[in-house]
Amino acid sequence: MAIKTIEKLKTTDLGASNELACPVCGAVSQMRLFENTDGSMVAHLHKKPAQGLAVCPRCATVFTVNPHYIAEKKSGTVCELEPQDLTVLVRGS
Ligand SMILES: [Zn+2]
Repeated sequence: MAIKTIEKLKTTDLGASNELACPVCGAVSQMRLFENTDGSMVAHLHKKPAQGLAVCPRCATVFTVNPHYIAEKKSGTVCELEPQDLTVLVRGS
């Protein structure tokens, strides 16, 4: 369900993150990163708009990502995504 939510949004695929442990399921994997450009998410999820999103490929939890990481990723800076950069937006299964 969380993945379908993401697919309905206008997003830009930012590729994969470095490997890190998912704060929800603990699986070590590369998260898929998106940039949300769709303001309708605010009404849909009753939450603040998130510019940077990450999805765990194991449990499908959607996280918002620290904006500093997204800015660095887009500028080509080599940076590591850390668990503390992630905030649960939609919990997967
Ligand atoms: Zn997970």
